[in-house]
Amino acid sequence: KFRGPLQVSFNGQRYYSTAAQVASLEPPPTDSLPSWESGPPAGRSRSQTNSFYDVTVEKYAAKPLSPLTLKKMLSFGESMGGEQLERKVIKSAQFVQSELPVRLAKRLLDLQLLPYIVVTNPHIKRVYDAYHRAFLVLKDFPEVTSMEQNQYLTALLTKLVDEHGPLLTSLAKGLKECTTRPLVGPSLSLDPFLDNMLRSRISRRVIAEQHICFQQRREGYIGVICTELSVAQILGAAIARTEQVCRDTYGTHPQFQVTGDADTVFSYIPAHLDYMFFEILKNASRAVVEHHSRIAGSRGTRLPLKSTAMPPIVAQVCKGTREVTIKISDQGGGIDEEVQPKIWKYGYTSVDPTISLGSSSASPVADFRTGAAMDPMAGLGFGLPVSRLYAQYFGGNIELMSIPGYGTDVYLRIHRLGNQSEYVEI
Ligand code: ADP
Ligand code: MG
Repeated sequence: KFRGPLQVSFNGQRYYSTAAQVASLEPPPTDSLPSWESGPPAGRSRSQTNSFYDVTVEKYAAKPLSPLTLKKMLSFGESMGGEQLERKVIKSAQFVQSELPVRLAKRLLDLQLLPYIVVTNPHIKRVYDAYHRAFLVLKDFPEVTSMEQNQYLTALLTKLVDEHGPLLTSLAKGLKECTTRPLVGPSLSLDPFLDNMLRSRISRRVIAEQHICFQQRREGYIGVICTELSVAQILGAAIARTEQVCRDTYGTHPQFQVTGDADTVFSYIPAHLDYMFFEILKNASRAVVEHHSRIAGSRGTRLPLKSTAMPPIVAQVCKGTREVTIKISDQGGGIDEEVQPKIWKYGYTSVDPTISLGSSSASPVADFRTGAAMDPMAGLGFGLPVSRLYAQYFGGNIELMSIPGYGTDVYLRIHRLGNQSEYVEI
């Protein structure tokens, strides 16, 4: 049945698997990492694994979850070495193996329950298929009892985390297409579905990445949690990326100022903080550039405006005992009162919805209100609600105060992790 041992390469390292492990693996859907060097494993045909109504999904979805807590995560990762490390790695692998298929199955069932027009959308279908593939591979993976098997599981998890990264955008695009179609229309509220979907996605990634990272034992980290995360550093990186996409979209970008306790250091997952900053800063930049370009344009001033011709965006960092608050203030004209209740809804965007995200006709600078040119600056309507999910995930929050006609303040409250009394369930 099986054509010889299989090698999986990842990040320059090679992992070998046993025939039994390989028999339970699907060939990867694309030419993405890792590469399968001796061809796809035989035995399982595509049609067998792509069935939409899969009874095993239902069976797994009915199982209870064992919630991971941050406290557990931190104490589990502390003080390890030698034999103890091996035992912990294997225990962690087994936890991943029991949790992920159940969590994936629950989301697969949710997807199956969506209206037909939604699930048949190609973007949503891609999400469904990727989840289903991951579900099958993980549930059939033999229980890890050795470090060698764990290496292979780790390579698989790394591949899945990478492959599933872009699925958030697929989900957003798919829903955007569905809700702008007359058949479904904006009346279809998917917010509770998406809350579950995305919260679960955050959890699965944390679980997988925690397992991958804590074996690497990086200085200053416990698994995926950086214990000395510098706000200034993450803000700086997010500002640089914001300037870049803003320049690509509009030909200019506003200036940024970081004030207050910017040297604050605390425990957090860097990628989460980076996501939130990037989304908030993009929104602020878009508002500033569009608002001030409109004013300048009506006076006949040449566009794009110089960075110095627009009011700067100010990030004020305040260190509290239990929380760090970052207030991001812009003078981008604010949000109208009737729009304010809508901004937290998934898919709400003030980017013109009649413009297809796929079109790429006009130059981004000449007419910055074209769909293709706006993405990834804005247009999916996921930035605020997803950022808030991230903040709330570890007990923080995002609030927004806007003065219509003037500007907006966004308050990002981050719970400083690592306090032993905390018990944040993830
Ligand atoms: P997107 O940026 O893709 O439109 P978001 O969820 O990030 O989606 O934001 C939703 C909407 O909220 C934006 O389209 C915009 O109308 C409004 N908004 C968010 N932040 C600001 C801000 N700082 N100033 C003005 N409007 C904002
Ligand atoms: Mg946005």
